[in-house]
Amino acid sequence: MDNERGTLRSARAGVTNAPSDRARLPRSRRPVGEPARPGSSSPWILMYHSVAVEKEDPYQLTVSPERFAEQIAWLHRRGRRGVSVRELMRARAHGRDDKLVGLTFDDGYADFARYAVPILQAYGFTATAYVVADLLGQDNGWDTEGPRKKLLTVEEVTELAAAGWEIGSHGLGHQALPGLPADVLAVQTRESRRLLEEAVGGPVTGFCYPYGAVDAPAALAVRDAGYDYACAIAHSPLTGRFALPRCYVGDRDGAWRLRAKKGRHRLRDAVTELRRGRRIRAERAVTERRS
Ligand SMILES: [Zn+2]
Repeated sequence: MDNERGTLRSARAGVTNAPSDRARLPRSRRPVGEPARPGSSSPWILMYHSVAVEKEDPYQLTVSPERFAEQIAWLHRRGRRGVSVRELMRARAHGRDDKLVGLTFDDGYADFARYAVPILQAYGFTATAYVVADLLGQDNGWDTEGPRKKLLTVEEVTELAAAGWEIGSHGLGHQALPGLPADVLAVQTRESRRLLEEAVGGPVTGFCYPYGAVDAPAALAVRDAGYDYACAIAHSPLTGRFALPRCYVGDRDGAWRLRAKKGRHRLRDAVTELRRGRRIRAERAVTERRS
């Protein structure tokens, strides 16, 4: 079947570089709502979807290659280097992330390889592509309106990973996780990770919630599936390593708007930390009263 040609399940036998006995990452035991680094604000992470020329774009997911090049040039001029979230989190663990910005591409559109990669390479930037494990080589059928866009194939994902681009999981079939039963959450997180690890021939440590939708059971499932971090969109009480907030970037975003968005990110971060502190103090007061 033509539309199955690119899927991981059908192509599993063709992936030759997947190690049979991979070392599993130790499970994190961190509480899911903990800040990415204690007492710190969230790192700045930009969220893209598609970089292409598109007349019709009802969900405003597409940035033209020209606009994308401008945005990347602007980051470069400001002394920032765009990196994958994997690299960002590693640098952050050593306090070396102040000149970095995370660059993320949701859904794994084929245009990532065609348009985004050459522009990023020209500046020595890296990025993360979060791909939908069961839909590789197919299209964005979950978006009912708007143009059908091709998704990266298994082969392209393998090649991108080999060239150093981080491949993360965006679930199995682009299903929102909140409200799903525990066994389904486990399949969405573990099975997508397993399939992608076969494709990339190494560990897959990043997850990105479809639609940015996250609740506590979803974040726990992601942590327990062995991921190192997960990307959400909005700031929330879950903001932290397993619900990293991200800043949407669209085709209208020039330098001025990007600067404003960075300021807004910092403000939301400060408010989130303030609320977290207030919540912790209230919880402590209750515990003390009980003892
Ligand atoms: Zn998505």
